[in-house]
Amino acid sequence: MSRSARRMPLLFVGHGSPINAVEDNAWTARWAELGKSLPRPEAILCLSAHFVTRGLHAVNAQEPQTIHDFYGFPPALYQIRYPAPGSPALAGRAVSLLNEKAALTDEWGLDHGAWSVLRVMYPQSDVPVTQLSLDLSLSAKEQLDIGAALRPLREEGVLILGSGNIVHNLREIRMDQALPFPWARSFGEAIHGLVLGGDYRGVSSYRSLPGWRESVNTSEHFVPLLNVLGAADERDRAAAFNHDYHWGSLSMTGYVLTDESEER
Ligand code: ZN
Repeated sequence: MSRSARRMPLLFVGHGSPINAVEDNAWTARWAELGKSLPRPEAILCLSAHFVTRGLHAVNAQEPQTIHDFYGFPPALYQIRYPAPGSPALAGRAVSLLNEKAALTDEWGLDHGAWSVLRVMYPQSDVPVTQLSLDLSLSAKEQLDIGAALRPLREEGVLILGSGNIVHNLREIRMDQALPFPWARSFGEAIHGLVLGGDYRGVSSYRSLPGWRESVNTSEHFVPLLNVLGAADERDRAAAFNHDYHWGSLSMTGYVLTDESEER
């Protein structure tokens, strides 16, 4: 990866339902805006809720396949291909930054956590992208450490993109419900305050927050936030977008973390 003129921001996106890949709504409009307003990355490293492995794995593909890892959605969603080039160079760099705690893999491409967002942000599919898996056996502190290990990528033109949902409980989804359940709002707002306040250690103690059990009933949608926050430091400030809830038990909230010393 080459040295970039400025330090790249960090991005966490609440991806919600796969249907967002093909819908024009207020959330996807914001994703599209981000694709235009963020500094153009040389490559993207995506940490998606939908790529979970034992140990960390980086996708080594030159032409990553589009993976349709969901069931029961309209046929149009299964026709989508997102033909962005891969970046074996970035995958190798991520593995080396993780001190060999990660390995390369040829057994994944781009799942919908990655492409449902990226086809809206970068519809020309002209930014190389690779995925790094999540290992859910690690502690919250270790998830922050993964982000910290990846931090140098920001100086190399790489956009680190976490794709999940801060509140995500599929068992409790109510498709006719606009407002969040009280536990979802309590947890989502507590995390929101911590992220905006720069208290990333506090976010890693999420199990002490009200509503965490229902909101993070499985951790794969939450962990990408920890990875992203780990790549931040005291120079970064978070700004929220799509601070909203869906179907009672999903949070759509996303954050951009920008190095303020770069803004001056
Ligand atoms: Zn998901």
